[in-house]
Amino acid sequence: MSEHTPSTHNHDCGPLDCRVVLEQLWEYLDGELSEDTTLLIRQHLALCSSCYPQYDFEKAFLDALADCRCTRCAPHELRGRVVDALRSAGFSSTA
Ligand SMILES: [Zn+2]
Repeated sequence: MSEHTPSTHNHDCGPLDCRVVLEQLWEYLDGELSEDTTLLIRQHLALCSSCYPQYDFEKAFLDALADCRCTRCAPHELRGRVVDALRSAGFSSTA
């Protein structure tokens, strides 16, 4: 009655374990993972019905965050403006 082994989780989700995928989901969405890992996770998400909702949720969250970033803070644009201001004040950006 004990054929229940927790390690038999490979239900056609590719080589990655769900836990591994979920742990790296934010980095995946941020594009911070290596090409190989990104590919493996993308593959896993396409096949795994238990990870996909989580991915969907985090992606929606990041999309909302990105919207907010564009309209309010725009760190890149802001940095450009600061550099311009420094340059016109006589500083040269050698860095
Ligand atoms: Zn999974």
